[in-house]
Amino acid sequence: MSQQNPFEKIELPGVKNILVVASGKGGVGKSTVAANLAVALAREGFRTGIFDADLYGPSIPLLFGVQHVKPDVIHHQGKESIVPITKYGVKIISIGFFMVSNKSLIWRGPAASAGLAQLLSDTEWGELDFLIIDFPPGTGDIQLTTLQRLNLSGGILVTTPQQLAIADAQKAADMFNTKMIQVPLLGVVENMAWFTPEKHPDEKYYLFGSGGGQQLADQLQIPLLAQIPLVCDACELSDTGQTIFASKDGNLISQFETLANKINQSLTSLV
Ligand code: ADP
Repeated sequence: MSQQNPFEKIELPGVKNILVVASGKGGVGKSTVAANLAVALAREGFRTGIFDADLYGPSIPLLFGVQHVKPDVIHHQGKESIVPITKYGVKIISIGFFMVSNKSLIWRGPAASAGLAQLLSDTEWGELDFLIIDFPPGTGDIQLTTLQRLNLSGGILVTTPQQLAIADAQKAADMFNTKMIQVPLLGVVENMAWFTPEKHPDEKYYLFGSGGGQQLADQLQIPLLAQIPLVCDACELSDTGQTIFASKDGNLISQFETLANKINQSLTSLV
């Protein structure tokens, strides 16, 4: 693979829009949202890729059911390039494809951000309308350096309605707004917004509190893009490498379709 200057911008010439999906905390559903947003965009006909940069817990291979697949490396014009795995119409590269099994981290500190950048730029993405980056949770140096080096179109914040998650999401938002980064936040996605039992479709149980996503969106003066319910089969589908488009819950599917449309519209209006 090629050697890189650790401060240089990462250029992905064939990619029109790079979007980061971020969260303050782990476990709020960031990867689930990133993966299914990518699939929703691909289903709308957009050329879409996903880059799993969550080196603390890369779950994109599992979410797409490609955890046992290894991407090919090709040699072209004296350079080695990685060929993404394609599933559900989405080109996939995950840091997990290159990790030694049972080790949660292969890179730390500056090596981690340099490694992420190298993997991103050594991948043969081809022409893409959207590249979704599933970002590590939190606001450490790895996140800051990586954000600085990317030419991003925007960020999406994922949170649960819980006050603890909201407070951490606010810190993640501050990171996007720092002087060195200045990436527009397109909006908030509230995940696990409520639970509706299958047998009582008119009932909503706010297991993690209610209104947290709207509260965060108001504080940041950005839109609340989607409220995704907690759905039993979402968990099962994720564990078996299927997307939420196989869910029995029509609301879950339509939330992701709407999210994909809103993202596309907000980027069109930014141009
Ligand atoms: P993160 O990337 O924030 O760590 P994940 O996307 O890995 O979170 O999700 C954490 C767990 O929650 C996974 O088991 C996932 O299947 C489950 N999950 C995420 N969103 C939902 C949802 N809307 N309904 C049910 N389960 C969900």
